[in-house]
Amino acid sequence: MLMNSLVKYSKTALNYSGAIRQMAYIPKNRLDGKVAVVTASTDGIGFGIARRLALEGAKVVISSRKQKNVDSALAKLKEEGLTAAGLVCHVSKKEDRIKLFDEAVKAFGGVDILVSNAAANPAVGSVLDADEEAWDKIFDINVKAAYLLAKESLPHIRKRGGGSIVFIASIAGYQPFDLLGAYSVSKTTLLGLTKAASQQLATENINVNCIAPGIVKTKFSAAISASKESEEAALSTIPMKRLGKVEDISGVAAFLVSDDAKYITGETIVAAGGMPSHL
Ligand code: NAP
Repeated sequence: MLMNSLVKYSKTALNYSGAIRQMAYIPKNRLDGKVAVVTASTDGIGFGIARRLALEGAKVVISSRKQKNVDSALAKLKEEGLTAAGLVCHVSKKEDRIKLFDEAVKAFGGVDILVSNAAANPAVGSVLDADEEAWDKIFDINVKAAYLLAKESLPHIRKRGGGSIVFIASIAGYQPFDLLGAYSVSKTTLLGLTKAASQQLATENINVNCIAPGIVKTKFSAAISASKESEEAALSTIPMKRLGKVEDISGVAAFLVSDDAKYITGETIVAAGGMPSHL
């Protein structure tokens, strides 16, 4: 039965546009009828999550700060035959966040799922060396905007009778990275926000969970793969001895927003190749 509901893409399977793609098992209709808003989703982990939710049947609304990035990400999704809309949304701008949810309602009739994925890291250094401006920017984008997005998504999710919110934290939220001091603390805060919000919404059929990715190969982590030495130093901290792929995170997100995770709330799933994950 379960197997029947899975679509197997072999290494030579064709996608809608005829291009060859490589993919593992993906439940085809698990998110049918759902509308998902994913922030910071024109590249990296956010794009991977939006794409995966759409592959599972969701209608997705993607966004980021730059129109040209929105246009090219949207074109990629549409080329695959996926249902998506897109717009500019800088998560710390209230007017952009309002437009984001308005667009989901206009394009697809409502909101069932919010994945809050945006983050900034303007400061490299130990936590107590971050200046006030850097600290404020990190907390404005990584924590306050995530909080406000969750709050602003609620009237929409409530109208649907329930849904899911997922925050994207980081393994650095458990074990602070020396050079990402303030960023690490901001990500620890998301673990607390997940717990608190999940308890408030537990009787409303709204699940709130979080994902803590390890080191995933994206532009955000480009400095790590920029040299053999820095990549080897990173690999030495990862028991699986490989960097994460976007797909290592997007499948977890799809599970968390699906009915398979209906009895899970307030949790953070660490997808970090075995890196230490205790507070
Ligand atoms: P990425 O590859 O650099 O992608 C960043 C995306 O976010 C782009 O689409 C960018 O597009 C958009 N963006 C950046 N700032 C934004 C803002 N203020 N408002 C809206 N959109 C914004 O980053 P990533 O590695 O996928 O990271 C995604 C999330 O995963 C972050 O929360 C990060 O902390 C977390 N994470 C990443 C790693 C890792 O190793 N990569 C590890 C742990 C956690 P525009 O430039 O057009 O805005």
